[in-house]
Parts: sequence; structure tokens; C-alpha cells
Amino acid sequence: MQLAARRITALQERLRPLMDFLGHSEYARRSGDPDVADFVLGNPQEMPLQGLVDAVQHHAVPQNKNWFAYAFHNHASAEVVARSLGASTGLPFEADDVLFAPGTFGGLATALRGLVDPGDEVIFISPPWFFYESMIEVLGATPVRVKLQAPRFRLDANAIRAAITPRTRAVLVNSPQNPTGHVYTREELNALADVLNAASSEAAARQKPPVVLISDESYNRVLFDGRTFVSPAVAYPHTFVLYTYGKQLLAPGERIGYIAMSPRIEGRAELRESLRFSQIVGGWQIPNNTLMRAIPDLEAISIDVGAIQRRRDRLHAELTRMGYEVMCPEATFYMMVRSPMADEWAFVDRLAQHNVFVGPGAIFEMPGHFRISMTASDEMVTRALPGFKAAIASARAR
Ligand code: PMP
Repeated sequence: MQLAARRITALQERLRPLMDFLGHSEYARRSGDPDVADFVLGNPQEMPLQGLVDAVQHHAVPQNKNWFAYAFHNHASAEVVARSLGASTGLPFEADDVLFAPGTFGGLATALRGLVDPGDEVIFISPPWFFYESMIEVLGATPVRVKLQAPRFRLDANAIRAAITPRTRAVLVNSPQNPTGHVYTREELNALADVLNAASSEAAARQKPPVVLISDESYNRVLFDGRTFVSPAVAYPHTFVLYTYGKQLLAPGERIGYIAMSPRIEGRAELRESLRFSQIVGGWQIPNNTLMRAIPDLEAISIDVGAIQRRRDRLHAELTRMGYEVMCPEATFYMMVRSPMADEWAFVDRLAQHNVFVGPGAIFEMPGHFRISMTASDEMVTRALPGFKAAIASARAR
């Protein structure tokens, strides 16, 4: 008997390795065990930022009868976001083009639902964030994968050009990129913009809308080595910026982020209406009032990114000394490491025997690797290092 929707069960099947790993593996069974060093997800391993706690408490106290009424939007907060994006991009973002969303997850669902018709194609980049493909497909659109090449995983404008067809409605990019840790350069983005401008001109000749660039910038404030972030919105006019405060605050369970449409996008007024409607029919994809109100405070708060960079440096040095091949991330919470055994699932199990839990590369379309989340505490790193050492030694002794 088919109990759940076929579309959902088919997508579930594809994500089975990830869902089993998160839900039914040794990792799932031992989650919360104090002996475990947990490097799997970008979750906090220490107490939350006091500034976040203060902001949530402050904005939860009602000042009028409408405090918790249905609210689509918060204009004062949207103005703060528009100003902040204006300062970082030099583009005159407008508050009315900022739509609050429950994180990038919610923003992506709203953006895709507002843009695609069944049969439209959406290009995404591999290695990807786990859910892109399914989130495109669940709407009846067709996900089109463009694979980037190791070891640098540079944005490959030619490969994107080759994947574009008359059905291409959007291209989804993620910089700084999870899991590779790469930050796209201005040159890479300009090359992408050339390809998309050409595709949009061809679309215009067919009376079709321009190809929209959906820019997942979830990690744009988690940058190392003094890097600056260039938003794809600077290079290409028809861009949606997607952001979550979940990374900057290391509080992914507090669902707050936004979609900001570039002031240069074509059909802005119509898109604004479509996205607002998409938020509602998507199941009220709008954050709680308390978090929307807190944004002016949240904008100014961040985890200590320097501490994550120091953890990166330490892990990089120690693991390299043990003989691991480590990709040194330029940004994000993540570090990819080549598995010393060709079957990284087997090596992930071996690390688990030493109480060290990491993410298998297959779930990020990077088989033969594993992912370490640097949101682990320094104490966890200290505790895990002997396990990393013993596991590589035993893998080599086979
Ligand atoms: N995009 C990327 C690249 C991510 O890594 C994540 C979270 N891991 C998300 C989107 C979703 O972010 P959130 O849960 O804060 O909405």
C-alpha cells in the first residue's frame, strides 16, 4: 500500500544515505553521548551567544495587542537589511524587496516556488548542499547538475553555459561554498554573468523572462584570512540573495533569514508579489514576529569567526602531520579531508570506533572524502586528535 506521496517517497529514496546516517546510524544512536566528538553538522557545541539570548528575550515582550498577530513583514527590519546589503554590494537594495524567511531553507523554497513551472530546469552546482536537488524536484521542476572539478572547485562558467537550455529558469550557486569552503572570486562571477546575460538575451528574444541567479550566501560572514565576500548580485542583475542568520549566530534552530531581490532585477514588482504569495501558499514561510523584530540587533552579532579560523588552522596542521590530505577552506564551517580508505563509509565507521563522528563525502557528492564541521569545540578537537591518528594508522596497516 502506498501511504505517502510517490514524489516524496522517491525523493526520500535518493536521500536515503543521508537520512539513514542522520536518523539510524551509530552516529544517531550515540548523539548527545559526552564521549563523542561530533563533527557531523554545523551545530553549536557550546552555549549560545548572549546577544542572541538578550535579543530574543527583549523582542518577545509585547508592547501592544498586535505583537503576535499575523505579520507578513517587518518594514523597519527590512530597512536595516537593505542598508546592510547596500553597504556590502554598493547596490541600492530596497526594503520592499527584502522578504523574511525561516532561514535559507525557507527562502529557497519560496524563491523556487515563485519562479518555476513544472518542466522548468534549475541548474545547481555539485558538490552541492544536500537538499538542493530535492527542493527543486519536489516542485515539479528539473534539477540540472553541473559538476565542478577538484581540487579547487572553481565556478565553471563554460560548464554552466553547456547546461543551459531554453527551459532554464534559474541557476543556483552557493558562495562561500558548503562543502568545499571556496569563495567565488570576482573573475569567476563575471564569467558566470557573461553566460547568464547571453542566456537572458536569448530568452528575451523568445519573449521569456531572464534566467534568475539564486545566490545562497548563507556563509557570507564566515570568512577566513581577511577575505572579502563578493555577492553574485554585484556581477549579474537578475539575482535573488538568500541569507540565513543561522550561521552568523550559530543558532540554526532559530529560523530567521531572508530573500533580497536585486534592485536591478527585471520585473521586480511582479516578482515581489509572486514571492509574497509563494510564502503564504508554501505554508506561511515567514519567520516568527519575535525574530523578525530582532533583526536590527541580530545584524550586529556574530560568533567569533577568528576562533573557527584558529580551529581550522589547528585541524589542518595536526591532520596533515598525521598523513591526511586536507582541503584548506577559505570560509564556511567545513573542512573536507580525503579518506585514507577508498570506501569513506568504512573509514567513517573506523573513526566512530574512536568516538569521532564525521560526515561521509558521498552525501555531498564527494565520495572518497569526509567532512569535518569546525563548529566543534576546541575541547572536542583535543579529545578527537588521538582517534584521528589511530584511525589513519590502522587504515594504513591493512
Ligand atoms: N544552504 C547551505 C549551503 C547550508 O549549508 C545550509 C545549512 N547547512 C542551508 C542552506 C540552510 O540553512 P538554514 O537551515 O539556516 O536555513
